[in-house]
Amino acid sequence: MSLLTVGSVAFDALETPFGKTDKIIGGAATYITLAASYFVKENNLVAVVGGDFPQSMIDVLEEHGVNTEGLEIVPDGKTFFWSGRYHEDMNTRDTLITELNVMEHFDPIIPDSYQTTKYVMLGNTVPATQKLVIERMNNRPKLIMLDTMNLWMNIALDDLKAVLALVDVLTINDEEARQLSGEYSLRKAAIKIMGMGPKTLIIKKGEHGALLFQDEHIFFAPALPLEEVFDPTGAGDSFAGGFIGYLAKTDDISFENMKRAIIYGSAMASFCVEKFGSERLVNLTQEEIAARVQQFVQLASFDIA
Ligand code: AMP
Repeated sequence: MSLLTVGSVAFDALETPFGKTDKIIGGAATYITLAASYFVKENNLVAVVGGDFPQSMIDVLEEHGVNTEGLEIVPDGKTFFWSGRYHEDMNTRDTLITELNVMEHFDPIIPDSYQTTKYVMLGNTVPATQKLVIERMNNRPKLIMLDTMNLWMNIALDDLKAVLALVDVLTINDEEARQLSGEYSLRKAAIKIMGMGPKTLIIKKGEHGALLFQDEHIFFAPALPLEEVFDPTGAGDSFAGGFIGYLAKTDDISFENMKRAIIYGSAMASFCVEKFGSERLVNLTQEEIAARVQQFVQLASFDIA
């Protein structure tokens, strides 16, 4: 099955208690498409970068089967830049710099060859751009999933609400769910947010796992307790890529299959945080993924005798 991802392809500069990086490759769509590449063959990307973006990284995406026909390169533009600093606990971070650069006026063109894509992942980017992508699909995809962040709630709430009304699945973290709904209880927050459009909601809680809500159903997936977390950047996007990649691969959007998908998403996130940037995601094997998923199964399974 086919997947279309739109989102940032970026330069990131990160500070964690373990060290500091200069500009490395990041961006929501980078992590999503790399994670999804282990599940889907038709992995279509729509994004924009500047002339400063290295061809070698585009090659890495292509080697992972990512279709870059929809990756616009603005020769005299600068690539989106984000810089963040993690706190001691690695669960919270401060954004130090966000330079939208070429993303500010990005006009997402959907190549004709992407028009039949059944699964769409709207990675974190300007909400108006996410909405344009939906409007430019000639046929309604089978499933549209959206990720966003507090920045857009602060500066583009109306645009965000307009696109939320059009999507099937929303993924956000607990802090963002509370901000969007004005409710502290995540259960109450979920009811309010699902009333805004998405029938399914995933609330990510970092090292404390993720909650899946749909109608009156709730499912909880743990995060794998790791000995070392080097860099949480991209964990949410890798989670999203694994989740929607698995749904697309199995072409089953039932709640039961979403439970499995959330475990695959959590597994991809657990790999992502083991190294800086996307380094770990580019070198995975199917055997490693299957073994990691088994660890999740064991972590959460118990018997009541
Ligand atoms: P995550 O850690 O999964 O929440 O995502 C981290 C990625 O999001 C980084 O690689 C950043 O380049 C990207 N990012 C951060 N802020 C924004 C933003 N405002 N718009 C789009 N992408 C962003």
